Amino acid sequence: MARKMEHPNEICAMCGKSKNQVLHLMQGVYGYVCDQCIEEGHKMLSEYAEQERKLREYQEHIDATPSQIKSYLDQYVIGQDDAKKALSVAVYNHYKRMHQKKKSDIEIEKSNILMIGNTGCGKTFLIKCLAKYLGVPLAIADATSLTEAGYVGDDVENILLKLYEKSEGNLEKTQQGIIYIDEIDKLALRGENTSLTRDVSGEGVQQALLKILEGTIARVPFGGGRKHPNAECVNIDTTNILFICGGAFDGLENLINQDKKVNRTIGFGVGAENISNEEEFTFENVQQHDLVRYGMMPEFIGRLPVITTLAPLTENDMVRILTEPKNAIVRQFQELFAMDDVKLQFEKDALMKIAAIANEKRIGARGLRSIVENVLQKTMFELPDIKSAKKVVVNAECVDGDTEPVVYGARNKKIA
Ligand code: ADP
Repeated sequence: MARKMEHPNEICAMCGKSKNQVLHLMQGVYGYVCDQCIEEGHKMLSEYAEQERKLREYQEHIDATPSQIKSYLDQYVIGQDDAKKALSVAVYNHYKRMHQKKKSDIEIEKSNILMIGNTGCGKTFLIKCLAKYLGVPLAIADATSLTEAGYVGDDVENILLKLYEKSEGNLEKTQQGIIYIDEIDKLALRGENTSLTRDVSGEGVQQALLKILEGTIARVPFGGGRKHPNAECVNIDTTNILFICGGAFDGLENLINQDKKVNRTIGFGVGAENISNEEEFTFENVQQHDLVRYGMMPEFIGRLPVITTLAPLTENDMVRILTEPKNAIVRQFQELFAMDDVKLQFEKDALMKIAAIANEKRIGARGLRSIVENVLQKTMFELPDIKSAKKVVVNAECVDGDTEPVVYGARNKKIA
């Protein structure tokens, strides 16, 4: 059979493919475009639009006022008002300083931040929310795994590498990112913190961190690491990277109060027992010199001008964490159950019990999710097979493990 003759002009004006090489040729006034080029063009335009949207959002959020930043944090983080305010102001000032347009002789220093608070009270979570809102890359590191250059372990520069990777190799983004260093208190130079197995001093690591906190151009090897001499390097300017350090500073309260009592006894001949509670040091009024006494290097602490403390979470806070934030744990499980058309209900006493268990474990809100997982485990296994299930109710006895959550069918009839 003779092949159908192609019209000589029936080719895609963009890629040159003919009608029989493509699915469809769309005819315009001046020629044709094939389906593949249309699809490719559509993809490209969507990507541009997405980039534009992100840039606009970034600009809006970078320009946000402290109260706008705090309002966003309020949607996710329960309590910790002081920390939220301090962070919002520090971030606002940081980006204002970075985008300082007017030439001025006054050099504004960076507002790196130190957050003090027990484990599980929301330090990392706050920073994650903040970075998400600002649309800037975030790298999280643990101070205990850091070593001075030349020792086995993570070089301090590795944190910068992490940030570079989080920025997908975009140097400009890297240089405007946030680095959170947790467990910074473990670098303090104190008898009880100097582990015999640790071959590097906390002081050495503080020294190494000092440079990048201050602002330096660090030569960071990537694709192989320092141990490979031929690894490629990237020069990262840390001047505009916001550093946030966090730690529990266990024993700080006792240490400072003890020192005060000793000083008083020596200086004024007043008995230690005569110090009133009002005079006692509390975390809310922690000063840089208190941290130096704890064992941090003065130069290092001097590079963290914003100090903020987070209160330990009360059981009431934990109940709120379970239910109130936008992506609260209870809401997440309710969403999962709703996908099977089942309503999940937690009685108030169940929430209180979960909070009490987390509190006993002294791990803050960190333990809440796994407690809820445990309580619902058996139900989640069986429920998809109980087609008539409409509602599941969890009470305090279920949390204690004495009974399983109760499953109800139509007209509130108990079925399991
Ligand atoms: P840490 O203070 O040790 O860094 P995290 O921020 O990692 O604690 O907290 C652990 C988890 O507990 C978070 O991922 C978050 O889900 C929850 N959480 C902790 N504190 C709060 C809070 N104040 N509001 C809401 N959720 C919180």
